[in-house]
Amino acid sequence: MKITFWGAARTVTGSMHLLEVNDTKILLDCGLYQGKRKLSYERNLNFPFDPKEIDVMVLSHAHIDHSGNIPNLVRQGFRGNIYTTHASRDLCAAMLEDSARIQEQDVAYLNKKRRRKGEPELRPLYTVKDALATLPYFIGVPYHRPLPIAPGVTLTFYDAGHILGSAIVVLDIDERGAGKKRVVFSGDLGRPGLAILRDPEFISHADYLIMESTYGSRYHESFEDATQKLREISIRAFKQKGRVLVPSFAVGRTQELVYRLNKLRSKHDIPEFPIYVDSPLAVNVTEIFRLHPECYDQETRKFMAANDHRSPFGFHLLRYVRSVEDSKELNFVPDPVMIIAASGMCEGGRILHHLKNHISDPNTIILFVGYQAENTLGRRILDGVSPVRIFGDLYEVRARVERIDGYSAHADRADLLDWVNHFDRGQLKRIFLVHGEEEGYTGLKAGLKQMGFRNVLVPDRGDSFERL
Ligand SMILES: [Zn+2]
Ligand SMILES: [Zn+2]
Repeated sequence: MKITFWGAARTVTGSMHLLEVNDTKILLDCGLYQGKRKLSYERNLNFPFDPKEIDVMVLSHAHIDHSGNIPNLVRQGFRGNIYTTHASRDLCAAMLEDSARIQEQDVAYLNKKRRRKGEPELRPLYTVKDALATLPYFIGVPYHRPLPIAPGVTLTFYDAGHILGSAIVVLDIDERGAGKKRVVFSGDLGRPGLAILRDPEFISHADYLIMESTYGSRYHESFEDATQKLREISIRAFKQKGRVLVPSFAVGRTQELVYRLNKLRSKHDIPEFPIYVDSPLAVNVTEIFRLHPECYDQETRKFMAANDHRSPFGFHLLRYVRSVEDSKELNFVPDPVMIIAASGMCEGGRILHHLKNHISDPNTIILFVGYQAENTLGRRILDGVSPVRIFGDLYEVRARVERIDGYSAHADRADLLDWVNHFDRGQLKRIFLVHGEEEGYTGLKAGLKQMGFRNVLVPDRGDSFERL
């Protein structure tokens, strides 16, 4: 057996690992690498292997950094099965199309400039058509149902509790001439206590563990503190008749936030004013959440039972906005109001229009609920930069800026260490740390060492491990 790490190696995007056993090539994840534009484009376009030679793919969850390069894989000749959970398959149907649209728009914008300079035009990494062409290859597999996917290889999904449909991948392998072994791939691990979703499951046995390390050296704020802050901000907005603008990713965080607001409203803990989710993708994704109650946790079921079995994503004064016209109308709705819109780091999407119109109003509150990477508009606003540039024009930041870190969908350092601690140490031969930046994997490696785990490795891109 051989494992090669082709993505999310010493970084957090482009998750992709190749497992070779019994003359079969199994690809774990096929995510989009995101970084500097030119490098990303080249790296995503050119696979380090021939996609035609991949026999089978297993997808841990629908986030674009894990699924976003599947359209390219299929376009370049992959014809095998893509095993994932039913919810992930449905999310991919919405998200890959959305990702393709972004690729098309990006390239159209670049090509306009290139034509002016007489440079050859680029083609999009993939198109909406390519994204739709991947869907016939998906095969939905429920949690806890072992399924043979290749000669001597049986797949079982366990709940990773990270986003809807997210899975821990367990591969039980009987290698010809080398015997039985188990490979566990954590995917992205969630956080115990996330709204709607069940907590990540523990796995007790593995010979080889491929594990994420995103927050390997950080601790999150508690859900209680986060919700308390959300309550205070809502009350303040109501009192000052202001506008709360929440940049948020369409998948996961938006539903988490809506669910928390729903609970606060149902207990009359926050004042009544309209809340809008202004994002077509978030609308589609919320519909998909509604379709998959099999993924809900006990608390959500109880909450629904106590509320006439209404969806946890719909409540009095909450509106979903799909069309551009309706989105523009939001400029004229009276305050107080809360508007949740993508993108999460203010790098595009409808949030930019809302910011442009209201960032200079001292009655506005900009509420960040997600990670703001360096060199993004979100990060600049959070760092107190003013004025900031939006669509080429400068705007004075007079809005109040708030942040809530407690709704992260990733396990933190304590959660990660606790998760590994459930494995039988005697059996665990190697732990490969992936999906983390230096701070994350270094911190987690040190923690694991302290707990007595040996053979913890941090593979670089292209590193191969044979005769496992
Ligand atoms: Zn993820
Ligand atoms: Zn990820």
